[in-house]
Amino acid sequence: MSLLVIGTVAFDAIETPFGKTDKIVGGAATYASLAASYFYKKTKIVAVVGNDFPAENIQILKNRGIDVEGLQIKEGEKSFFWSGKYHNDMNSRDTLATELNVLANFDPVIPASYQDCSYLMLGNLTPQVQQTVIKRLHKRPKLIVMDTMNFWMDIALPDLLETIKMVDVLAINDAEARQLSGEYSLVKAAHKILTMGPKYLIIKKGEHGALLFFEDKIFAAPALPLADVFDPTGAGDCFAGGFIGYLAQVGTINFNNMKNAIIFGSALASLCVEKFGTERISNLSDEEIANRVQQFVKLSSFTL
Ligand code: AMP
Repeated sequence: MSLLVIGTVAFDAIETPFGKTDKIVGGAATYASLAASYFYKKTKIVAVVGNDFPAENIQILKNRGIDVEGLQIKEGEKSFFWSGKYHNDMNSRDTLATELNVLANFDPVIPASYQDCSYLMLGNLTPQVQQTVIKRLHKRPKLIVMDTMNFWMDIALPDLLETIKMVDVLAINDAEARQLSGEYSLVKAAHKILTMGPKYLIIKKGEHGALLFFEDKIFAAPALPLADVFDPTGAGDCFAGGFIGYLAQVGTINFNNMKNAIIFGSALASLCVEKFGTERISNLSDEEIANRVQQFVKLSSFTL
């Protein structure tokens, strides 16, 4: 049994009110696999980079025990590049550049040793590639979680809708849920999206937490109010990685475990944003994670 994460492995250039970075390591699969690795040891990655991607960036994943056999390095090509700018309201950001580069012709190869995949995290990536990975696994995984973003809704909606049909859990943010459903009310949006294929829908609301929809049930998870958010990049991916990593660890998929998974995902996201890029999420202790989860428990528990 293993947990397979796909998505971008990228260069990011980030600007926040607290500072600016040149090209640093980023990407949806980077953040999601790092987060998942704290819960599930057999985490593997399928992604692509160009040969401009330094070995020490890949070492960050290896240091966490992540299997990178499925990470292709393309000679003479450039890695995916994304650049974004956050304003004082760190909940919203402008994408300044998305350069697909090596991602434009990505043909994902699933190594034979990855065919034991039971948990599949389809991190943010071309929907066509997400779908190809599902088809190239000989056995359908026990759980498929998918993340995506407005960029793909804008340029690849038919493929995205096809892929959504094949997954168990869709995790998107509030603006994306509105765009996908054409509904402003998140409750109406959720009901519509749940008819498109996934059994579970998670709507991420940045610093306002996340909602989990399943049949006629809703679970609301808070986000931890933090005094300092340095860089929200990767929060959504860490959320998704922590979520599926926790579920892989417990091994049983039901609504109650999903609720806990959302809290673990939120805890990892809240840790990620405390430093720039992958710095914080590359090197956490089990104690830090356990303490953070306890803060979530305290934050939202009350007795009537
Ligand atoms: P998040 O902040 O969780 O939404 O994810 C940020 C990460 O997503 C960054 O590290 C980017 O490299 C990556 N990213 C940005 N745009 C895209 C895209 N269109 N497809 C895949 N990954 C992307």
